[in-house]
Order: sequence, then C-alpha cells, then structure tokens
Amino acid sequence: MRKKIVAGNWKMNKSFSEAEKLITDIADALDDVNLRGTEVVLCPPSLYLEMAMDVAFESNFKVGAQNIYPEDSGAFTGEISPMMLKELNVAYCIIGHSERRKYFLETNEFLQRKVDALLKHDIRPIFCCGEVLPEREANQHFEVVKKQVEESLFHLPVEAFKKVIIAYEPVWAIGTGVTATMEQAQEMHAYIRGLIATKYNRQTADGTTILYGGSCNGKNARELFSQPDVDGGLIGGASLKTEEFLQIVTSF
Ligand code: PEP
Repeated sequence: MRKKIVAGNWKMNKSFSEAEKLITDIADALDDVNLRGTEVVLCPPSLYLEMAMDVAFESNFKVGAQNIYPEDSGAFTGEISPMMLKELNVAYCIIGHSERRKYFLETNEFLQRKVDALLKHDIRPIFCCGEVLPEREANQHFEVVKKQVEESLFHLPVEAFKKVIIAYEPVWAIGTGVTATMEQAQEMHAYIRGLIATKYNRQTADGTTILYGGSCNGKNARELFSQPDVDGGLIGGASLKTEEFLQIVTSF
C-alpha cells in the first residue's frame, strides 16, 4: 500500500511568531485526530525549519523544505543546501513548483540535479509537475507532464525513484480558486502512474505516492482524495488555516 500524504506549502508567508503559533496549533490539533496512516508534512520558509523541527520532534507531522540548491556547499549566495537540511533532519523538500519554474526559470534539467542532490542525502523530493492553461486548452497537458517527469526523474535507478513523491499541480489551478475536477485529476494521475509502470515496473508505479495540488480545500479534498490514483494533496493557501488544513488531512 502506498503512503497517503498531505503536505502544506506555506510559500513565503507568516512572520516568525505567526509561523510558530500556526505550527503549534496544527501540532495540537493533530494530537486529537486519527490520521489513519496519512503522513502530514509542513513546509514552512527555510528560516523557520529549525523551529518547525523542534515542534515536530514531539508531534505527529514531518517537516519539508521548499527549495534547495543542488550542491553541498560553495559560492552560491543566498541558497541553502541539502546537507544543511539533512543536519536538521528535514525529511522532504518540494522541488519543481510552478512558481520556481516561472519566476526563477528552473528547467527540467536543473531539477534533475536537485533530485539527485536531495536523494544523495536521503531527503525525499516532492516533485511538482503540471501544465499551464494554454497547454491544457491545446490538449498538450499529457505531453507536457510526460516531458517534465521523464527529464527530471527517469534517469534514476528504480530504488532511488521509489523515494520520490510526485505532485501533479495544474498551474491554472494554483492559487486561483479553480480546482481540477476529480475526473481531470484522476485521469492525469493514472497517466503518470502508467508512465512509471512503462519506465520501471507495475509494482513501482503502484507504490508511488502521487499528490494533487491546486486550490485543494476543506470542501473539495474528500472528493479529490476519493479517486483511486490520488494519494493526497500538496496544499498552498488552505494550509495556512489550522481548521481547514485539519479538515483536509482527515479527508481520506
Ligand atoms: C501550491 O502552491 O502548491 C498550491 C497547491 O497552492 P494552492 O493550494 O493555494 O492552490
């Protein structure tokens, strides 16, 4: 059985004290729910990772980063390395988010380096992929996602690939309030799983956690998570509100 995961991507939000309160509130709320095996991952800004790890130590969630630079150390002003995350015991790291592809011009080839850098330190990449609206309208969404997955992930040997989490995030759904329908999500997730089966094998494909992201909230999570190939969510805006996030993590 593959792992169900709900990950909160806080992006560049919250002051330190607000972040501390949110993380403590979520930790307290998680104490009172039955997650039934769902792994909860919180991805705050890098500056708050140490504080988040301190809270996570006695709580029921894991911590993820939002980005790394794919080198252990060196002259890369402003960046943080997977080695630094490893020292803190951070378990996951989001890469390939559409905001990084758009604003920081990150390519599939560069993301391949990030995947390798994370896996070298045993940090699980949450690899985001997804098409922009004109690509969906031109019926190119399968082709686009295939290229992203193939060019950033399919160089991996099978045992390394098994550590990767994939998040399908149609860009037109991120932060827009427009959610993919459960049929659109299921169709793409099944397609990605099919790509994995063809490249590796059916068992690996069946074991890969594929998350949906894009305006997932307390109201639509249950429907989305009911789909056979949707194994949870990567949640942006709704992960900043304790009650709504709790509603999502208990939506299986
Ligand atoms: C995201 O940024 O990964 C995301 C899914 O955002 P939102 O939930 O706000 O659409």
